[in-house]
Amino acid sequence: TAQVIDGKAFAAGLRTRVAAGVARLKAEHGITPGLAVVLVGEDPASQVYVRNKGEQTRAAGMNSFEFKLPADASEQELLERVAALNADPAVNGILVQLPLPRHMDAAKVIDLIDPAKDVDGFHVVNAGKLAVGAEGLVPCTPLGCLMLVKDRLGGNLAGLNAVVIGRSNIVGKPMAHLLLKESCTVTIAHSKTRDLPALARSADILVAAVGIPQLVKGDWVKPGATVIDVGINRVPKLDGSGTRLVGDVDYASAAEVAGHITPVPGGVGPMTIACLLANCLTAACAQAGLPKPAL
Ligand code: NAD
Repeated sequence: TAQVIDGKAFAAGLRTRVAAGVARLKAEHGITPGLAVVLVGEDPASQVYVRNKGEQTRAAGMNSFEFKLPADASEQELLERVAALNADPAVNGILVQLPLPRHMDAAKVIDLIDPAKDVDGFHVVNAGKLAVGAEGLVPCTPLGCLMLVKDRLGGNLAGLNAVVIGRSNIVGKPMAHLLLKESCTVTIAHSKTRDLPALARSADILVAAVGIPQLVKGDWVKPGATVIDVGINRVPKLDGSGTRLVGDVDYASAAEVAGHITPVPGGVGPMTIACLLANCLTAACAQAGLPKPAL
């Protein structure tokens, strides 16, 4: 059976390294990185994320600035808030919590964020930099996935077959670009892919970012493969008592075949906020003209 990739422990280690980097930046350059998070509306899941982000930001020694706009705020108000944060030198990273209310255009809002402060890595400038292999800010979830894979496989991924299931701008596409940069042979699968099980079985590294509970079965997995499960799906418990979280991978059957596998929860999930903190430190260093911190 597969070795479990403990994302929770890895994320804790990463947060410690970020905190050490922040302390060094303060001591040597008098800079305290600042992360601004903007939340529009009352979505309960988003409120939890924003609270966790604030707590972990402060725990890493950075400043956390939180802005809440009511659900009926105008798009113009949000754009003005983002513009003010772009202009504020105490703010090194800006994150607008998604999803936004229906009457707001997320693309327009993301477009306005200064790419140097775009710690989510969603701005087209950062997406473009990733695509051409230039230094930029990389989306947190795929960045975390890559760290877990490299930690397990010894850093050199050249020549491995990687299959990424899902082509979203937030996870699938940037994940594929990151693996390509590591010289993997990358295939992106999606809802129109034919014979997905056979394609998945060709993967040395299989990343599932689909949003369908337990889609990937054990017989889709190549023996010994590294399986990264990005999915976070809430499903009813079998005994009818409430709900539980499952991934996009059928963990029990996949773990019998894989070499390494991330659990849900406790795999990719904790890496996302840790990578957000890492991106904020990276952004603060870049804005000060300092080299990229080694994390
Ligand atoms: P999305 O809905 O934007 O994209 C899903 C992708 O899956 C699409 O590209 C689609 O083509 C593909 N797809 C849909 N049905 C398919 C099928 N039957 N076969 C193959 N491909 C299919 O989702 P997303 O934002 O990329 O998120 C994917 C999953 O990852 C979700 O479960 C989400 O909750 C989770 N997620 C987790 C984190 C985290 O761990 N912090 C972050 C972001 C997303």
